[in-house]
Amino acid sequence: MGQSILTDIKNAAKKSLKARHNELADTQRQMDILNGGLFADGELPYFKDKIAQTGQFPLKPKKLEVLQINVGYMCNQVCEHCHVDAGPDRKEIMTRDTMELCLEVIRNTGAHTLDLTGGAPEMNPDFRWFVEEASKAGIKDFIVRSNLTIILANKKYHDLPEFFKKHNVHVVSSMPHYTKGKTDKQRGDGVFDKSIQALQKLNEVGYGMPDSDLRLDLVYNPSGAFLPSDQSAMERDFKKALKADFGIEFHNLFAITNLPISRFLDYLIASDNYEDYMYALVEAYNPAAVEKVMCTNTISVSWDGWLYDCDFNQMLDLKVASKVKHIKDYNEDVLNDRNIVISQHCYGCTAGAGSSCQGTVA
Ligand code: SF4
Ligand code: SF4
Repeated sequence: MGQSILTDIKNAAKKSLKARHNELADTQRQMDILNGGLFADGELPYFKDKIAQTGQFPLKPKKLEVLQINVGYMCNQVCEHCHVDAGPDRKEIMTRDTMELCLEVIRNTGAHTLDLTGGAPEMNPDFRWFVEEASKAGIKDFIVRSNLTIILANKKYHDLPEFFKKHNVHVVSSMPHYTKGKTDKQRGDGVFDKSIQALQKLNEVGYGMPDSDLRLDLVYNPSGAFLPSDQSAMERDFKKALKADFGIEFHNLFAITNLPISRFLDYLIASDNYEDYMYALVEAYNPAAVEKVMCTNTISVSWDGWLYDCDFNQMLDLKVASKVKHIKDYNEDVLNDRNIVISQHCYGCTAGAGSSCQGTVA
């Protein structure tokens, strides 16, 4: 890739696709791309045909285990590969009224994991109230996905490590690499140094220490148009490097494949990597991963209360194929009877060892 393209991508990425009026801010445009080209020409099989070969179409949910709630698309960062198209310019934020509806569901769900995500979920003005209320529901694993730099972004966030500890929150944080160059390339200048400081602060209150119940996991996603390598080997490398260089401890590393949507799709097209990447995903297709893709045990709720099979479908505005489509009508039995909405982006979840918000699946 030429230096000028790199520079263009970097400059463009300082705003969301939506703020730039980029055509990919239109989810229908993304769907047209995912359904057209290589797939419409018959060069590559549609995802539904691929999973039908092993009798896995239609894809059905199993037992609901994870309720994932996106409390807003606002973020202090504008990462190059963000599948949410998040950034400081995004104003979509969950209101307290919608949070109340979510709390009602959290108190009655059969799911054992509550997973709060964004954007930077901490930027929602009602975030702390929501965490306090949700933590009373006795959910076994309460995850907050934190981008780390938010902890240092403003004085009002400096005490987040103590706040997380007080509510026994499981912190899951993006950390694309243990080197400054690769991290800053993907997430922005200065992100690595701030992430390191934030991890040290989390360690100081007990997060991530070997025998601590305060869980701190990191998320790795590739910095370019390639698939992640072996999760356990990467975890060993991250642990060794972060400990040696900065004294940092954490529990697990989740390796996540970049799905070809939103800003990563924009990156693939701008860098002329889209077709090669789709070939790579399809070639690495693993039917064993289909069994365990996260939509089979997750419901995703958007900032305005709509229900989706996963956070990726949320960003493509592919609502659940069920009579129940909104949190105000939530009914787990009815939802569990749905067919999962799939398209070619799903190849990102079934390549190699598979990919989910909890890392590899197969
Ligand atoms: S920190 Fe996360 S939500 Fe924010 S822009 Fe980066 S990838 Fe997107
Ligand atoms: S993108 Fe969503 S719907 Fe598709 S396989 Fe992955 S988790 Fe399931």
